[in-house]
Amino acid sequence: MKAEIIAVGTELLLGDILNSDARFLSRELADLGITLQYQTVVGDNEDRLMNALDIAFKRADLVITSGGLGPTDDDITKETAAKFFGKKMVLHEESKERLLSYFKGRKMSDTNMKQVYMPEGAIVLKNDNGTAPGCIIEDKGKAIAVLPGPPKELVPMFNEGVRPYLESKQDLTIVSKELHLSGIGESAAAEQIRDLMRTSANPTIAPYAKDNEMLFRITARGKSKEECVSLIKPITEEIYKKLGSFIYGEDSDTLVSSVMKTLIAKGMTISTAESCTGGMVASRLIDYPGASKAFITGMVTYTNESKAKLLGVKKDTLDKYGAVSSQTAEEMCIGVAKKCGTDIGISTTGIAGPEGGTDEKPVGLVYIGVSVNADAMTKKLQLSGDRNKIRNAAAVAAIELLRQRLNTQEDK
Ligand code: ATP
Repeated sequence: MKAEIIAVGTELLLGDILNSDARFLSRELADLGITLQYQTVVGDNEDRLMNALDIAFKRADLVITSGGLGPTDDDITKETAAKFFGKKMVLHEESKERLLSYFKGRKMSDTNMKQVYMPEGAIVLKNDNGTAPGCIIEDKGKAIAVLPGPPKELVPMFNEGVRPYLESKQDLTIVSKELHLSGIGESAAAEQIRDLMRTSANPTIAPYAKDNEMLFRITARGKSKEECVSLIKPITEEIYKKLGSFIYGEDSDTLVSSVMKTLIAKGMTISTAESCTGGMVASRLIDYPGASKAFITGMVTYTNESKAKLLGVKKDTLDKYGAVSSQTAEEMCIGVAKKCGTDIGISTTGIAGPEGGTDEKPVGLVYIGVSVNADAMTKKLQLSGDRNKIRNAAAVAAIELLRQRLNTQEDK
């Protein structure tokens, strides 16, 4: 099957927004083994969209559009797609009910009703995250999937409506496996297995970045589940050989779940002393159900006084090296573990900004520490982004450092 993507929206042409829908759809199509040869961006204009559809359907069997499903007059994608295939627009009762219940108790503009008229005979795709349903129109071996523009609407609609539709059309079994990595960026990880990614067509290997971590999704297509699993196995082994030390888990594992499982299995206890992350490390660890088997105490020691008084960080250390230093991070993690009687202590101290940076200690400089049985290891980070981004990245890096420490413990 050959597919094309047409992103509709003048905002895209003006460069006001990035075409992240096309990026998402391209990856998903590759994952499904569907050939994508062209992507188009077109403004909110019926003639030009008609023209783009005409060109695309000369080359492809499937077109996916994004955007232009809103209630206003310049939202024309669905109507133009219907016109292209000579379909009438008819009221879709179920969508009308959904729209009325969405606006229950609130004022709805009359123009919203336009959104519940669908091309006759189309497969309607419900939208749980907005007001515009999408649809799939099929005609003489060709199909068009018309999806809303906002990614928070398009992504679930694709996953819940379009992906199963495409899988069924291909008459194939598709199996995916995810390998989760931390402590390495998306491009550095992809670089390590560049040749494998380039040469492996089935399974495909796609990298995804999320929340300061990344994952590889390996997707195989075959006649049966067993065939897919056996295609995935050697690829997984190859990735483990190259990047094994960064892989913390598979499929539904998370960094926190993998660390907490290890702590609980080893019967080890942990406490945290946080400055710039203000409790984010503790909060993430406590997200894990059953955390109380390992997590004992979380302290937020924001000032020099609290670092000295509660954790026993030496005044000399604070005076000589400052609160944001490897020495302070080290005394913090050892101090909290001692104070709370735990095997492990974690610490964070840094400058999250936007104020407070100097040439010597710029915004984004963070030290993290992990002590295991009073043996401390610290790490210096130079993070970028706003305050929230820096604090989140520091919290993830601290948990990643803990994972590395637990791994080396296992090796011993
Ligand atoms: P709505 O129902 O919210 O009006 P729509 O389907 O009409 O959505 P547009 O009006 O074209 O979509 O775009 C709405 C918003 O969705 C844009 O302002 C932008 O934030 C986002 N968006 C649209 N197209 C894309 C795209 N290709 N990539 C990423 N974001 C997009």
